[in-house]
Amino acid sequence: MTTHQDLIDRDRKVTFHASTHLRDFANGDAAGRVITGGKGINIIDKDGREFIDGFAGLYCVNIGYGRTEVAEAIYQQALEMAYYHTYVGHSNEPQIALSEKILELAGPGMSKVYYGLGGSDANETQLKLVRYYNNVLGRPQKKKVISRQRGYHGSGLATGSLTGLKAFHDQFDLPMAGILHTEAPYYYHRAAEQQGMSEREFSAWCAGKLEEMILAEGPDTVAAFIGEPVLGTGGIVPPPEGYWEAIQAVLDKYDILLIADEVVCGFGRIGADFGSHKYGIKPDLITVAKGLTSAYQPLSGVIVGDRVWKVLEQGTGELGPIGHGWTYSGHALGCAAALANLAIIEREKLTQNAVDTGGYLQQRMQQAFGNHPIVGEARGVGMLAALEFSVDPESRCHFDPSLKVGPRIAAAAMEENLIARAMPQGDILGFAPPLIATRDDIDEIVARTERAVNKVTDELVREGAL
Ligand code: PMP
Repeated sequence: MTTHQDLIDRDRKVTFHASTHLRDFANGDAAGRVITGGKGINIIDKDGREFIDGFAGLYCVNIGYGRTEVAEAIYQQALEMAYYHTYVGHSNEPQIALSEKILELAGPGMSKVYYGLGGSDANETQLKLVRYYNNVLGRPQKKKVISRQRGYHGSGLATGSLTGLKAFHDQFDLPMAGILHTEAPYYYHRAAEQQGMSEREFSAWCAGKLEEMILAEGPDTVAAFIGEPVLGTGGIVPPPEGYWEAIQAVLDKYDILLIADEVVCGFGRIGADFGSHKYGIKPDLITVAKGLTSAYQPLSGVIVGDRVWKVLEQGTGELGPIGHGWTYSGHALGCAAALANLAIIEREKLTQNAVDTGGYLQQRMQQAFGNHPIVGEARGVGMLAALEFSVDPESRCHFDPSLKVGPRIAAAAMEENLIARAMPQGDILGFAPPLIATRDDIDEIVARTERAVNKVTDELVREGAL
């Protein structure tokens, strides 16, 4: 019989992994794990060990694991027509039905959908559309894109440049020219530095910083701004009050397109169909992935708003057919999976559950960690939450990074059979349970987290770090 260890050993010889120390993994000095199944909010490894997946994979398995209804939809579509390309006007029935559904959910002002396989390639498409748009308008110099420090938009050369995290830049000489990063709307960090600003004042300050950057670069060179409605991988940070309103006013003033990266927020995660709806954002372009299929198939999309579409469709006359396309765009299996997934989200009212049970998650996190000696902030929205650890919550001082407090707490949670994610920058533990989670599930997640945080707190006391 093949054991778990056999599989891990074979894996080490033939595969390398994202966000993993390459040499340590190959040598056997970093752990591996092979996942063999999942049911509801739990995943199971080859040893039969069961974990609560408090991060829904990478915040994507929103309907939970093991949904046969989606598997059935994929199977039926594969029998009928697994694939044909969507170049030169070809389509398939699931793609058409899915585009109709996405546009219905996105609401007024949105015109067309184009598909990819993941969030990175969708944002790559967005960057190309922004260039195409300005080329059609005869503004070849208006091409720069402003993203935010701590934003996450992908891992390619261009999309990794949009990402505002050092860990994704340094090894690859990024960011590329033409991509800039403005201040993160990270009130918890900045408010202390800015000494007592209100959230609204801080939002206005962020908008002021953006305007300064636009003016310094020259407004006629800045094409677009990209942001996640709630900052995700950069720390799970809901926007401070008035933030999007203030940012939009600046973008409007200088005729700059707004791309809402809804890869995490889209389809219910924060208790609305889109994060843009929740925060009153009026994007020109929207990026979706993850929750679109709950990861039963890889699928992403760009949703193009009327303002951009009206220009793009003018372009084809002079510039010819759009020189952009992926082999698997509109893949029939992905679209069939998405339709089945969105039907479950609607039928089971999972977006509302992200409001109700998500609200309970926020409340329980506050109760358990609001006054904890190493928690600086317990924050979140809907079914998305984070704990930010601090050596002194009063002053919000960080721990010495060499103590690796975040990863240690994530490891302690694993010992409790709970998966929570140590976010890549800062000592932040992230939670994004599947949207099917119940109050009992949340109680269990919080109880296991408390044990993990307390265990590491005791260790830190013993080490003299507290
Ligand atoms: N945008 C956001 C907001 C994301 O969170 C992610 C992935 N975590 C991406 C884009 C990139 O998606 P992918 O990994 O599917 O390329």
